[in-house]
Amino acid sequence: MTDKYAVFGNPIAQSKSPYIHTEFAKQTQQVITYQAILAPVDQFSQSLMAFFTAGGKGANVTAPFKEQAYAACDELSELAKLAGAVNTLIYLPDGRIRGDNTDGVGLVADIKQHFGCISNKRLLLVGAGGAARGCIKPLLEAGAKVTICNRTFSKAQNLAEIFNEFGEVQARPIDELDTPFDMIINSTSAGLAGELISLPQSIISPKTQCYDMSYGAEMTLFNQWALSKGAVEVADGLGMLVGQAAQSFNIWRGVMPTTQAVHDTLRAQLL
Ligand code: NDP
Repeated sequence: MTDKYAVFGNPIAQSKSPYIHTEFAKQTQQVITYQAILAPVDQFSQSLMAFFTAGGKGANVTAPFKEQAYAACDELSELAKLAGAVNTLIYLPDGRIRGDNTDGVGLVADIKQHFGCISNKRLLLVGAGGAARGCIKPLLEAGAKVTICNRTFSKAQNLAEIFNEFGEVQARPIDELDTPFDMIINSTSAGLAGELISLPQSIISPKTQCYDMSYGAEMTLFNQWALSKGAVEVADGLGMLVGQAAQSFNIWRGVMPTTQAVHDTLRAQLL
C-alpha cells in the first residue's frame, strides 16, 4: 500500500506542503501520497487519529495546531520538547506517536544558504512566539550570539532563561537596543496583519543581514524597512518553509531532498 502523509491546519487551503512533498517524492523516487486536511479547530486529535488509524504514516502540523500536536505525542525529540510545539509527526509501528520540530533546522539551513556562516554573528531575534522558540537552539548550535526582543518583554526573558544552557543568549527591551547587529531575524506575525513592528534604526548597519520568517508576493514590510535603513541584504521565509519540509521528509523517508528547484518554482508561483 502507498505510504500516506498529510498536513493538518485550519485554514489549510493555502498550504504549499502537498506540492513541496509531492516534488520531493518525485525527486527521490519515493512512492507516497500527501494531502492537506482541514481539521476543525476543536477536533485536531480526533482528525489526526482518524488519519493514522486509516494508514497514515506521518503528518505535518501548521497553525493553529502545533501545541496540540505536541500534547498528542507519546514521545518527543529534544527540539520539540524545547520548542513546546511539534510540526512533524511520525506514526510508529507500535501505534505510538513521535513528534519533532523541524522549523529551526530549516531556518538555519536557509539562512546559511542566503547569508553564509552564522557562527559568532551578533543576531537579534525579534519576536518570542512559537516560531522564535523553535529556532533558538538551532541558531545557538550554529554559533550565533542571540539577543531576543519582543513587544511583550517578559516572553523574551522567559525564552532567554530556557535556552541559556545552549549558548550565548540574552533578552533586551526593544527601546534599549542601540547598537547594530550582524543579523536580524523577524519572527513576529505583525506583517500578517499588515503592521510594521517598531524598531530603532540604530540596530542596522551597512553590514546587517535581515531575514523575515514571513513571505509573500511582495517584499515583506520588515524587509522593506530594513533595506530603507541601509541593511546590506534581506531574505524572506519561503526558503525556511521548504527547508523545514525537507527535514520532515528526511525524518519520514530517510532521504534528504534538495530544495532549490522547489523553492524557485514556489517563488515563481507567488509572483
Ligand atoms: P505567535 O503568535 O506564536 O507569535 C507572534 C509573535 O509576533 C509574538 O512575539 C508577538 O508579540 C509578535 N507580534 C505580533 N504582532 C505584533 C506587532 N504588531 N508588533 C510587534 N510584535 C508583534 O506566531 P508564530 O511565532 O507561530 O509565527 C510568527 C511568524 O512566523 C508568522 O508570520 C508565521 O507565518 C511565521 N512562520 C514562518 C514559518 C516558515 O516556514 N516560513 C514557520 C513558522 C512561522 P507578543 O508576544 O507581544 O504578542
